[in-house]
Amino acid sequence: MLNGKRYCYDIHCHVMNLSHPNLLAFIRRIDLDRLIAINAIPFIGSIIAGANLKKIANLLSIMEHSICEYLIAMEADLARFRDMHGRIVIAGEAYDRMIITPLVMDFGSKYAATYPDIHYNKLSHKPVREQVIDLLNGIREYADHHRKHGTAPLFEVYPFLGINPDNYERDGTPARSGVRDLLGKYFGSVTKESPEARHAKLHAKMGTFSGNINDAAFDYNYLFAGIKVYPPAGYNPWPDDDAAREKVCDIYECCIARGIPVTTHCSGGGFLTADKNDALSFASPKTWGAVLADKVYPSLTVNLAHFGGPLEKKPTAWAKAVSELARSKANVYTDISYLCFSDEDYRRLNDTIVKTCRGDAGAIDRLKSKICFGTDFMINLLHTDSYTSYFEHFSSTAELSFADRNRFISENPERFLFG
Ligand SMILES: [Zn+2]
Repeated sequence: MLNGKRYCYDIHCHVMNLSHPNLLAFIRRIDLDRLIAINAIPFIGSIIAGANLKKIANLLSIMEHSICEYLIAMEADLARFRDMHGRIVIAGEAYDRMIITPLVMDFGSKYAATYPDIHYNKLSHKPVREQVIDLLNGIREYADHHRKHGTAPLFEVYPFLGINPDNYERDGTPARSGVRDLLGKYFGSVTKESPEARHAKLHAKMGTFSGNINDAAFDYNYLFAGIKVYPPAGYNPWPDDDAAREKVCDIYECCIARGIPVTTHCSGGGFLTADKNDALSFASPKTWGAVLADKVYPSLTVNLAHFGGPLEKKPTAWAKAVSELARSKANVYTDISYLCFSDEDYRRLNDTIVKTCRGDAGAIDRLKSKICFGTDFMINLLHTDSYTSYFEHFSSTAELSFADRNRFISENPERFLFG
């Protein structure tokens, strides 16, 4: 319960349109280039590629909409989970509203990855600024849409700001912000406070962005609920280089002092613009272990998303490391976004929980108090057909107890987000 309402959460989703990612890197991420090549092989190729191309068309279709239309489509998708009071009902539990935290991604430029065998082969650096403006405008339009129609919005939308320190100096110039300027602008007057106070301030701020990202009279605090970092695009959580280390430490110190959660991509896959080996070492829970070591930042609130990547029958080294950090560090969480598309996946999730805790009941309970529900919409459309279908599996699987389901979709993300 938060300020008199019961909430469920999608702690890991993306709300972006086709102009936001590096298009060529995105084409590689969704395998479109390979599928088109396979599709060119008569008959066999079209059978293999046909179903996947449909999924990609579905993904591109939602990304061709404006941010506001995108949010409305997500909301409409969930209609079958709503009761006569507009509450969302998941496996018998009714929640008044839903909080979603779209993660902004800052696609790095340092690596300047290339696309093979074409003339204009340098990937463009998409400034995160445009994505931030579009998202904040879209959230305002979504709120306006409901005001205009006299309807109650299902979603409260509290985005996470994507920061890749490689794209900034530590201190900016009048013409260009530095890492510390960004932290000051968006989080400078955020204080450690009660969950109710934090939520009330975010809620009051939602939908108030004027469209001007440089309005000296406007207070940009509380527009974002957290920070998103993305190792596959070059975010190194613990660089050896002094200047780079100072910048990530600025982020961690700001987050700890002000109670700001961080979400990091934590699987071997994803949207790669960095060198593949670097991306793996940056995303690895071992690297985060160095950040979270007892003498450094053990109290950082961080979501090691995706539980370390696809769940295998025998838990992977990454799943073990995520489980260990989530159990041993007070504020380390993980999420099940892009992970559970079927009953079989939920069976594996259970298995992974039990095996990485070596069957110890106390350890299992500690880990289960750190797992959050997330979808990874829209990128999860590579494996499913709508925003709803990820909820359907979560809601209907017999692999989760009712108590665990409520912890994953409500209690745990609420604690992650608000303390
Ligand atoms: Zn994601």
